[in-house]
Amino acid sequence: MKIGQTNVENIVEEFDTPVYVYNAKEIREQYRKLVDAFGSRYDNFQLNFAVKSNFNPSIVKVLVNEGAGLDCASKAELKLAEELGVDEVMYTAPYNRKDELEYAVDKGAEINLDSVFLLDKLDEVPERICFRIDPKVEGNQQLMFAGGDAKFGIEEGKAVEAYRKAQEKGVEEFGIHMTTGSNVRDPKYFEKITERLLDVAGEISDELDIEFEFVDIGGGLGVPYKPGEEELDVDETAERVVNKFEEGIEKYDIGRPELRIEPGRYLVAQSGHLISKVTGVKNKETEYIGLDTGMHQLLRPSLLDSYHEIKKVNDSEENELAERTVVGLVCSSIDVIAEERKLPKLEEGDLVSIENLGAYGFVMASH
Ligand code: PLP
Repeated sequence: MKIGQTNVENIVEEFDTPVYVYNAKEIREQYRKLVDAFGSRYDNFQLNFAVKSNFNPSIVKVLVNEGAGLDCASKAELKLAEELGVDEVMYTAPYNRKDELEYAVDKGAEINLDSVFLLDKLDEVPERICFRIDPKVEGNQQLMFAGGDAKFGIEEGKAVEAYRKAQEKGVEEFGIHMTTGSNVRDPKYFEKITERLLDVAGEISDELDIEFEFVDIGGGLGVPYKPGEEELDVDETAERVVNKFEEGIEKYDIGRPELRIEPGRYLVAQSGHLISKVTGVKNKETEYIGLDTGMHQLLRPSLLDSYHEIKKVNDSEENELAERTVVGLVCSSIDVIAEERKLPKLEEGDLVSIENLGAYGFVMASH
């Protein structure tokens, strides 16, 4: 098995296991797909990478070199943006501490406030402010960042008041933002949320005579994890989003703001693999395959019940599939990576590659 041009065995020889491996070429390809699809349909377009999905400096650098801006969510991410010399930085703050917010303002990041009360934490309000709106459109059932009981964003009914307050505090330039869900592969969903956000922007603009510098429809673009799942059709997504966007800015006469997206998962998920070694096989009622990794390095299956393909490195065609349960080495019964999954025969010393771990993989590990 190769990742890019490199044999997995050679990687293991050099770095041992467990090891997270990324393919930079795939990241560049994903980035270019999005920029081509959106940028060719709307000229004032900006993509900010959601650093929370993978804060590995080398990965972030790949995207920055391609031209991506950054969406940061912590002081550490802001420091990384500074080290990489990135100018286009947005800081999204839900429930943040005053000192962190002030740090972000100090560093010149654009401030995206999740709640109006955060405005009062700023002794000096920057010239430009963005608010995160909850347009009550739900994403996928598991990863819901809006509507229902979601903790994020300002309810649309309170949005005008938020912007009015910012105006009263002297803010002169505005953006509007939402992130409503994650791992969505339906283009129509992105069309719907764009329409909803523009309706909110239109109302604010009418009431307060605000012209938005940018409209940010957030992240949430999905990738397939399970066999048979389809890729998100990026061209259809861009077509639907840009059409709604053009319609909305014309209807509400809000100029020609920058259209922004801030994906994480779509750009990096498929590029990442966790290579691990089988440490032993135990036959009880089920067959347990033990690995030299576990939930301390790969939390997603235990915490989110996430599905990740497991491939045997050097698998041969004649290897018969049977149901096996793959477990980690942590002394906890929830440290299960795949339950009763159809897999080839695995023996002590075999290498496996756990797939689609470029987003929310290593960042969720215990450091
Ligand atoms: N933007 C914000 C504010 C987020 O909270 C997130 C994810 O949590 C993202 C962008 C990236 O989402 P995704 O990885 O689904 O694209």
